[in-house]
Amino acid sequence: MSEITLPAAPASVTTEETSLPVATPAPALSVSFEFFPPRTETMQQSLWDCVTRLAPLAPAFVSVTYGAGGSPRERTHETVTRIAREPDLQPAAHLTCVGASRHEVDSVAEQYWQAGIRHIVALRGDPPEGQGVYRPHPEGYPYAVDLVRGLKRIADFEISVAAYPETHPEAASPEADLDNLKRKIDAGASRAITQVFFDVDLFFRFRDRAARAGIAVPLVPGILPVTNFAQASAFARKCGAAMPDWMASLFDGLDGDPDTRRLVAATVAAEQCRALVAGGAEELHFYTLNRADLTYAICHILGVRASRAGA
Ligand SMILES: Cc1cc2nc3c(=O)[nH]c(=O)nc-3n(C[C@H](O)[C@H](O)[C@H](O)COP(=O)(O)OP(=O)(O)OC[C@H]3O[C@@H](n4cnc5c(N)ncnc54)[C@H](O)[C@@H]3O)c2cc1C
Repeated sequence: MSEITLPAAPASVTTEETSLPVATPAPALSVSFEFFPPRTETMQQSLWDCVTRLAPLAPAFVSVTYGAGGSPRERTHETVTRIAREPDLQPAAHLTCVGASRHEVDSVAEQYWQAGIRHIVALRGDPPEGQGVYRPHPEGYPYAVDLVRGLKRIADFEISVAAYPETHPEAASPEADLDNLKRKIDAGASRAITQVFFDVDLFFRFRDRAARAGIAVPLVPGILPVTNFAQASAFARKCGAAMPDWMASLFDGLDGDPDTRRLVAATVAAEQCRALVAGGAEELHFYTLNRADLTYAICHILGVRASRAGA
């Protein structure tokens, strides 16, 4: 079997700081959770079970994706407005430029503002299924930066944008991609959430490059606990994220063993998060895939507990 190297904390972190056990309270660590809108009644129920389970962890916000994987956009609106009615949750609505005029996008944003939703995750979006290359809508916002500017003209939304530790696959170069991120921040975004990545050192290098480029807002690592290695690899390939060999080795031989895969997934993601926190990350964004258990367990290991919020 090939050698397995678990993600390492940056060199500046001492062994003492990263040694187990680690279940210390993490009062400064802020977490947020991402959900996708449900397509069926059953999925709706499992989404709300997930929200209910994670809510006591007092997330800074919970976000709902928009049009990702072809999901109906009305479902995003319904889900976000329902979350907005929950007393202890701050909703964030993802919004994209794809397939809509500026007027249509603006009117969705206006409805959000009227419904009390103050936080938008502003994205360009991916081309619809079957349309290989992204083409801006003729009357639409071409790129995320244009959307950020448009949103700020409508109201003083809190705006998060996407960032790419391994560079967006369509970017002309890593420098051009970082310039694009800087433009989104300068246009009014106050946080950048990263695309999925698995090698924590990549995140730290990206954070250093962003700092050198004058990006001063929080860069929030996006965490995907991997339970289905084949699926996660396909997703990672699509979005330009490298899947390290050590990860393949860890899941090797577990195709027919979902229980062990879940245990491994929780361990790996918890290790990654611990290394990120040890290296100075103060916010983590979890791609929950509408399942609470792994995210809940990882938060628990990190010291993010219901009791922390007085729940
Ligand atoms: C946290 C997070 C949440 C997401 N949520 C969703 C979601 O809910 N729904 C969804 O459909 N997708 C979602 N995505 C995926 C996202 O839409 C895609 O990654 C998309 O391909 C790029 O979106 P962006 O906002 O980063 O685009 P942009 O920042 O506009 O950049 C897109 C690409 O265009 C380049 N670029 C920017 N401006 C120009 C220009 N003027 N000329 C030429 N090139 C330019 C950039 O370098 C980059 O390569 C999410 C991604 C992340 C990281």
